[in-house]
Amino acid sequence: MATNARLAKVYRKTARTVAEGGDLMAGLVTTSAQLTTLTHAMHRLAEATGIASPRTWRRLNAWTAFTGTRDTVATLHDLADRLDPVRMPVGYLTINPYRHNPFARGHRLIITTSGGKESVVMEDVVCTQAAERKVLHKVIALHNDLGTTGEAFSNQPVEWPGTLELVQRQTSRYGIPLEVTKRPRGGLFDQLLGQRKMWPSSAARWCTSDQKTSQGLKSARRHATQVQQTEHVGHVIIYYLVGIRAEESAGRARKPEFVIDRTASTRARTVIRWHPILHWSARQVWQHIKDHRLEYHPAYDAGMERLSCRLCVLATRADLVCAARLSPELTADYVGAEETIGHSFKKDLSIRDIQREAEHLGPITDVQPGAALERHLAPDAPTVEQLTRCL
Ligand code: SF4
Repeated sequence: MATNARLAKVYRKTARTVAEGGDLMAGLVTTSAQLTTLTHAMHRLAEATGIASPRTWRRLNAWTAFTGTRDTVATLHDLADRLDPVRMPVGYLTINPYRHNPFARGHRLIITTSGGKESVVMEDVVCTQAAERKVLHKVIALHNDLGTTGEAFSNQPVEWPGTLELVQRQTSRYGIPLEVTKRPRGGLFDQLLGQRKMWPSSAARWCTSDQKTSQGLKSARRHATQVQQTEHVGHVIIYYLVGIRAEESAGRARKPEFVIDRTASTRARTVIRWHPILHWSARQVWQHIKDHRLEYHPAYDAGMERLSCRLCVLATRADLVCAARLSPELTADYVGAEETIGHSFKKDLSIRDIQREAEHLGPITDVQPGAALERHLAPDAPTVEQLTRCL
């Protein structure tokens, strides 16, 4: 079918679907020019049908059957950025979520969990749906252990104490197996002191890619092989679930809900990244925790806004000071590491400054259970944007 005829068909289908109140849009886009044409058609459609809400548009999904070079994909991303309020997910292959049924199509669903609030909610939502569909046996939880500060320091866990136990309790609630992975060549501090000798940053986020993603994808590959061998499946589909939210950053807002991970996929397996709570607000997350009486880490009640590494290079100053007041030994280890490698924790902020501020304010001792719920569900609670998250 010629391109124009194909786009006309897509246009008619969209008009029908949106007119019927649906969210579905499918388009075949193979060049940036086609994407522009398609987008103009969507804008005209928005005007014609009186759709003004960006929320509705965010749910429209361009199905981008695209196999171009990285440069062309970057162009598509740029274009998608400029299309506000049309937030069009673009990738090598962005899959239409409404044609997807991960529970039926996936051979395994791997839920990555840090023990943080998004992980808790994602696990609850996905496991509840999997149980209703009687496919809970396909679901596995995966936690990456980031290690300790090591013998050279006071051997403090990089993550919050009690995280693994919390993840174990969360997972046993649904009766699914939990896998704990660890980078074979050492945890975050081993990598920092022995190999990288520079702190990670938003531009060089090796902590996430090396410590978490690559270990998680190894597990996805292992499960695919296992399914092939035990269930004699020709082509295995693995869903790899991550609890990111679009509200957290502009980068995350551009991510699609489903995307094939090309690096982990082969002819014999497809690994699909799924972000099930991508469009949830922080308030919805806390409301879900409250409504379903889910357990969360007490660090939130002590004032933290996010959880994983206690001292995260991407955290706000407020979170860093809060973490330092709660973890003086760990902070002393980070100060020692900063001096050892001679590289400042953040570009314009040393962990020594955080330590000084924390010492000035003193330790946090009065932690009220449920304080995080009250803080986030109060009628005048600040939005995530106001809290200025850095992820
Ligand atoms: S929590 Fe922060 S420092 Fe730790 S792995 Fe994630 S981004 Fe890196």
